[in-house]
Amino acid sequence: MECISIFEIFKIGVGPSSSHTMGPWKAAEDFVQSLQKEELLSNVAKVEIHLYGSLAKTGVGHATDMAVQAGLSGLKVDQTQSSEISQTISQIASTQTLQLKHIHSIPFQALECIHFHFDQQLPYHPNGMKLIARDAKHILYEAVYYSIGGGFIIKDSQIGESATNSSTQGIRTFLTAQEVLEHCATNQQKIWEAVLKNELQQKSETDVYKDLHKIWRVMLECAHKGCYTEGILPGGLHVNRRAKDLNQKLLNHQNRQDPNVDEWLALIQQSNPNFNQVNKWISCFALAINEENASFGRVVTAPTNGAAGVIPAVLLYYYCFEENVSEKDLYKFLMVAGQIGILFKHKATISAAMGGCQAEIGVSSAMAAAALTECRGGSVAQSLMAAEIAMEHHLGMTCDPVGGLVQIPCIERNTMGAVKAITASNISLESDPSKAKVSLDQVIQTMWETAQDMNAKYKETSEGGLAVQIPVNLPDC
Ligand code: SF4
Repeated sequence: MECISIFEIFKIGVGPSSSHTMGPWKAAEDFVQSLQKEELLSNVAKVEIHLYGSLAKTGVGHATDMAVQAGLSGLKVDQTQSSEISQTISQIASTQTLQLKHIHSIPFQALECIHFHFDQQLPYHPNGMKLIARDAKHILYEAVYYSIGGGFIIKDSQIGESATNSSTQGIRTFLTAQEVLEHCATNQQKIWEAVLKNELQQKSETDVYKDLHKIWRVMLECAHKGCYTEGILPGGLHVNRRAKDLNQKLLNHQNRQDPNVDEWLALIQQSNPNFNQVNKWISCFALAINEENASFGRVVTAPTNGAAGVIPAVLLYYYCFEENVSEKDLYKFLMVAGQIGILFKHKATISAAMGGCQAEIGVSSAMAAAALTECRGGSVAQSLMAAEIAMEHHLGMTCDPVGGLVQIPCIERNTMGAVKAITASNISLESDPSKAKVSLDQVIQTMWETAQDMNAKYKETSEGGLAVQIPVNLPDC
């Protein structure tokens, strides 16, 4: 059974999609790494990229083509700023040359080298891709990868093997919510304590908290940037950014000079805490993050990029508007949320190409609901109940992005996921979980069965729902 660390659920990367941008980027990085390891890099004359299934159908809108070029060029997905991506892609287009891993130049024209197989799907998963490196006459090396959601990738040669890797050995795998409940009862632990104990198998406590701090700061900086950036989102839909105006309005237009991140946080904490204002702040945080995500911004998968705004929106709500919340509480929040994401990844899916939007926004909302509940003093059973309530009311949610872009309905959908998470937490804190009729494990199983029954056109293909109701005429690849 695959062992997953919370640091695999929360990965720093770039937008707009964890499965269609980050995954293919990582696959391309792995591919050039393999060429170098096999000492083939300097013989490569041409690279072909073949995208199948959902990767082909929404690949242009989700920037799969750009991600693959960035990965082949040697840019690191977790370290690259959005300006570097556009620079690299423009340079490849203007010189018609791509420098593999910054080392070896090959002729490259995206239109000729990237092939979209709209009507074909590889066997293991809807997000399949094949990369082929050739010399003047022969195939030197080829590899098939699957991007299985949340930025996770698997090579076809690894399918069926234990996916346990060196960075996650020793981590105890909780397969079900019931196991979490029993473990915490036996050991008299909260969920965050069980998660921390697990992560300590891999790194020191200092490093665990250092990495959690890094995740929190990337989330925070992303929200801040989104609240101080205006304009139209890229991709051709001409969607206006809205977070900046909302942020200014909520701050009563004070401090027009852009405050830094920490000054901005302080301003929010001093702002009017009435229900409607707080509710608007939650939307503002989620809009800001997902507008950044749509603009190739630096985000954290939570558990995916499309749903990257739900958890930070609830986390920022908790930090800014609830009492006596310390940074350590935020780290506890992330640990609980990560554990819930792991349960969904084990027993269902976090891939919209497999399960629709219930697998993205639904899972992120369940993660946030459980985390907020435990941080507010809820019991383990109440936290798991909150996750169950949040997912129960996302069951069946389809993925139908207009124009294949992660903008409509995605950006607003994060605001809804965040509010449902807070409502689920409120309900669970006022409930007796021993009287609940539906368990988290049952709702995870229901989500998985719903995913399997869902028509393929509602699974990140842009062939159904809003994607076909809203006529768009976007530029080609
Ligand atoms: S509709 Fe939902 S699952 Fe589909 S791309 Fe948008 S956020 Fe992701």
